[in-house]
Amino acid sequence: MKKLLFTIFIFTALFAPFLSARAAEPVKILLVPGHDNEIWGAQYGNVKEAAMNLAVAKRIYNILKKDKRFEVHITRDLKGYTKEFADYFSANAGEIVSFRDKAKNEWGNKVESGDIIEREAVPHNSATEDVSIILYGINKWANENKMDAVIHIHFNDYPRKDAWTIGKHTGFAVYMPDGQMPNFQKSGTFAANIAMELEKKYNTSTYEKEKGGLIADQKLIALGSNGTLLPFVRSVLMEYGYIYEKKFRNYTTRHQAYDDMAKLTAAGIKNYFFHPTPPSP
Ligand SMILES: [Zn+2]
Repeated sequence: MKKLLFTIFIFTALFAPFLSARAAEPVKILLVPGHDNEIWGAQYGNVKEAAMNLAVAKRIYNILKKDKRFEVHITRDLKGYTKEFADYFSANAGEIVSFRDKAKNEWGNKVESGDIIEREAVPHNSATEDVSIILYGINKWANENKMDAVIHIHFNDYPRKDAWTIGKHTGFAVYMPDGQMPNFQKSGTFAANIAMELEKKYNTSTYEKEKGGLIADQKLIALGSNGTLLPFVRSVLMEYGYIYEKKFRNYTTRHQAYDDMAKLTAAGIKNYFFHPTPPSP
């Protein structure tokens, strides 16, 4: 816990100066409930991760929607991708691929020349071609539509022999862009504000690679891998907890967790954009 707070303090101290008064333009937020009805991510018992992700995302959506200072978007609902996103992916598939491949090339050149140091990431499943197009498509859309922040919502799991047994790790983690990515600077404080709220009720991940709860990552497409998110598009990927945790195994406590996690996340978002309060060291 101490490590998380210390990290937050460092980020706040470094990046607080830009948190000045904003113009009257609404803050544009894109919520991305991770996975979808076809590929639903993790599963424990009959509870699928994609449904959990959507449950939390919809709650955050409803909280922010009521606040006139925000303009909030979401990529999918119970039926699948919203018309806007489904149309965008199909109409722009070719452009999304060239956007991705161009970025990969440029990033690759910088790695080769030593301008960028590749960092080893916490293991995650690599995206299939279809998923890659969706995720890079979301980045392209977020740049074009000038999102102030993109929040990817997930629940965690880790590879083990039998996915039906209860795993050993618990707790939440907030992934943010690595320091060499263009949108790192704004994302760092944003991620810290959300983590700080969640920490009021939940423990940070006990997995050693997620220690402290705030994890910088260069490889996750959601965070803008290959430099695909513009500097003003803050990005975080939430892992709200491990899918087999006790509180998620029971209907009532799971739904309570959705409510609480959404409230705390929304509070972190509002604190960041409107009431920056740097914690004392
Ligand atoms: Zn996931």
